Amino acid sequence: MKKLLLTTVLAFTLLLTACGSNTAKPEDDGKIKVVSSFTIITDMAQQIGGDLVDVYNLVPTGTDPHEYEPKPDDIKAATDADVLFFNGMNLEGGETGWFAKMIDSVNQNKDHVFDLNEGVTPKYLVGDTGRDEEVNPHSFLDPKVGIKMAENLKDALIKIDGDNKEVYKKNAEAYLTRLNEIDAKYTDVISALPEERRILVTSERAFQYMTESYGLREAYVWEIDTEELGTTEQIKTLIDTLKKENPPVLFMESNVDPKPLETVSNESGIKIFEEHIYSDEIGKKGDQVDTYVKLLEHNIRIIETGLKS
Ligand SMILES: [Zn+2]
Repeated sequence: MKKLLLTTVLAFTLLLTACGSNTAKPEDDGKIKVVSSFTIITDMAQQIGGDLVDVYNLVPTGTDPHEYEPKPDDIKAATDADVLFFNGMNLEGGETGWFAKMIDSVNQNKDHVFDLNEGVTPKYLVGDTGRDEEVNPHSFLDPKVGIKMAENLKDALIKIDGDNKEVYKKNAEAYLTRLNEIDAKYTDVISALPEERRILVTSERAFQYMTESYGLREAYVWEIDTEELGTTEQIKTLIDTLKKENPPVLFMESNVDPKPLETVSNESGIKIFEEHIYSDEIGKKGDQVDTYVKLLEHNIRIIETGLKS
């Protein structure tokens, strides 16, 4: 009797489970479910994954990737994901940041979570102390780092979905060819500028990797978006630097409070270039800069036009 009851319970449970999975889950399209921490990596995953992947983006355009609060849909996507990509370099808050916490909370397999800056040497912000304090997360603005990230992403997809290795390799090859052309373009444009014009002035210190790679000097109002932005002291320090450097223009990012750099422009008499430079995100689909490749091309085009003016 007891055995019969147990069998019945088991059968009933199985039935429930079967029903449950039929109703709760939309039909599986067989695609690899990718979760990406922010827009630039999302685009990269779409380019290299192509038709084989479905990419879910976490931090949307217009939102700070440092201090993000995952939504219920994000948690669900992270739970169901076959593979997850993040920038690392402290962009998502590091080991105690929102991304790491989310991965722990959904019990994801750590072998399916990939830091795309693996193998890239970090550069440091100096903070108030003047010593190396915090990793600068904006490595992806340097095309040479973008190449490494794309390679890491391809290798990760192959690790997760080895059956489609050839497709990922082929997609990545075309994409890397494009990035290598862009890398060459950055070298050509910057090395052709007269020495005294090789200076990039922005609101945030987001171009440390790129400027060091290609031989530009950098100046900025603040080091990173998470600190105090546009204090009197920061503005004064930058104006002092500009007196020595005398750059042709200043560059305003697409996603910052424009006031501090406007103050610098008014007080120094150096104008702000009319088009935005992109530092933390790409635009929404259909915008002028809606892919990573377009971001890199756009930035070097306006740097060239601005610094030659
Ligand atoms: Zn930033």
